[in-house]
Amino acid sequence: MNDFVEIVDVGPRDGIQSQSTLLDTDTKIEFIERLIDAGVRRIEAASFVNPKRVPQMADVDELVSRLQKHDHVKYIGLVLNRRGFDRAVQSGIDQINCTTVASETFCQRNQGASVDEMFRTIAEIVVEAQAAKQFVGVTIAASFGCPFEGEIAPQRVATMARQFADLGVDEIALADTIGVAVPSDVSRLLELVMPEIGAIPLRVHFHNTRNTGVANAYAAIQAGVRIIDASCGGVGGCPFAPGATGNVATEDILYMLQRMGIGTGISIEKIIATAKWLEGPLGSAMPAMVSRAGLFPPVAAA
Ligand code: MG
Repeated sequence: MNDFVEIVDVGPRDGIQSQSTLLDTDTKIEFIERLIDAGVRRIEAASFVNPKRVPQMADVDELVSRLQKHDHVKYIGLVLNRRGFDRAVQSGIDQINCTTVASETFCQRNQGASVDEMFRTIAEIVVEAQAAKQFVGVTIAASFGCPFEGEIAPQRVATMARQFADLGVDEIALADTIGVAVPSDVSRLLELVMPEIGAIPLRVHFHNTRNTGVANAYAAIQAGVRIIDASCGGVGGCPFAPGATGNVATEDILYMLQRMGIGTGISIEKIIATAKWLEGPLGSAMPAMVSRAGLFPPVAAA
């Protein structure tokens, strides 16, 4: 297989957001710059949320104003509502990603709005974003399962994806927010979703909570997905399973892709070095497996 997959590193937002150790703005910028130096070209860097709810993002306006401009590098900022969208536009961040949830209960608890209300909010945001020529994508969280409702009917997710596609969003992402999917779930859902969204790029966000994250990424690639979220070092817990692993690790995904002959433009060695560096400021070990085991074939000593 000779191909290319784009990795979106979500470490600087999704990864660190749930960490109890707060990073200062300089450290966040260094993390982002290290990822860029490793070859990452899209980075989830910010979320425009209430700082009282998410203390790790309290400096988001300053952070975004200090992000370095690099050719071909795009920074993504997450928004959950109208106010967040206005702040994101004001900040000048490159790409805006709205989040909704496939499950009614989870949506109301997490977003404080029903699925229908979220759709209407996102529809308004998309109209404005399009008028301003602002990139806007949508993530459907809990696409593979809900901590409150359990199973999510794949058809429900496909219908939501179709509605967002009809709005003309720039990208649609499916997230396994609680890390319950297995590869056959991924194949089945993608088979339903992909015909509904036509040419709109599809991104997937997997968690390794139950050790299926890399296998799910493989299933998504086999189905034709070419944009995958991952976080350097695997930083980022699963908010519904304290102590459990969350985001799939960038280096674990890179290792698989590299061995499959799929290009990413990213240096796995530099990602591993960044994961090891990040252990310092966060004061904890990273869950990524490739960083512990090392590369294969082994890199010859200089
Ligand atoms: Mg995540």
